Amino acid sequence: MSKNEEKEETRCGYVAIVGRPNVGKSTLLNHLLRQKVSITSRKPQTTRHRIIGVTSDYHHQCIFVDTPGLHDARKSALNRLMNETVISVINDVDAIIFVVESLSFNQEDYKVLEVLKEIYKPVLLVINKTDRLSQKDLLLPHMDKLSTLFDFSEIIPASALGGHNLDRIEKAVKSCLPQGEFLFPEDQFTDRSMRFLASELIREKITRQLGDELPYDITVEIEKFTEENGLIDIHGLILIDRSGQKKIIIGKNGARLKTIGIAARQDMEKAFACKVMLRLWVKVKSGWADDERALQSLGYTG
Ligand code: GDP
Ligand code: MG
Repeated sequence: MSKNEEKEETRCGYVAIVGRPNVGKSTLLNHLLRQKVSITSRKPQTTRHRIIGVTSDYHHQCIFVDTPGLHDARKSALNRLMNETVISVINDVDAIIFVVESLSFNQEDYKVLEVLKEIYKPVLLVINKTDRLSQKDLLLPHMDKLSTLFDFSEIIPASALGGHNLDRIEKAVKSCLPQGEFLFPEDQFTDRSMRFLASELIREKITRQLGDELPYDITVEIEKFTEENGLIDIHGLILIDRSGQKKIIIGKNGARLKTIGIAARQDMEKAFACKVMLRLWVKVKSGWADDERALQSLGYTG
């Protein structure tokens, strides 16, 4: 086969990872990409944005799209916008990875499935967190049961965290890709700007630091992002809902904000392979989670 003919056989396509919050979508994406491009944490709803990560081998390019979980749209404008993001994302892809958690398949999962049934795209079902399963013999009957719900292209038990069966997922995904030329350079792993990655890393550190003390209504704006002489200078503005949260984030004598800043900077230096100077501010922006105009100005509407 000549070089040209080989090139013609490339496959390239978009793959969405969907599922209810906290099932391990971001973790799976991170492990599939072997690069930290999407943010995970023990709190649900950490990922609010559409994030694209790309993997390439000689013949295949998968462009992964992480999605926020589907939410109860009646609760706030933010939830409504998040759901619209999911639906617009899955309408746009070539294949879908539907992630569920171990042996539980609950009402929320059924809701996701209802959405997927309308899309007519290949759906790969990943039963994640199988490392937590104490009774492994329950897995096969569970898979049988799920196979009756929908014509999944494949059902794969896996552990995103433990790296179990990720190669099977990769193989199954590749077989769903349509023929076509690569859309991204082979070494590119995200089309999101470094700015966005910086804001997500800050948000991740805040969530890690505060755990249950903070609701998820928090956002980070990057006000300055400049690169000069091998040093990236970043100013991050942390926007919060209520003034009471300000003290919590800043901590005693600024100790907490400092810890957040140091951890975020360390991750940024790894991600950008570059020295980073990071300064953080905290500002109250009352009611922004319910103000669609404010959401748009912050870039939550895609
Ligand atoms: P998302 O909301 O679906 O994106 O979920 P995340 O990827 O943020 O994961 C939610 C939580 O589940 C995190 O604490 C992960 O570490 C954890 N998690 C993800 N995958 C696995 C897994 O395979 N096994 C176990 N035990 N935990 C996992
Ligand atoms: Mg996530």
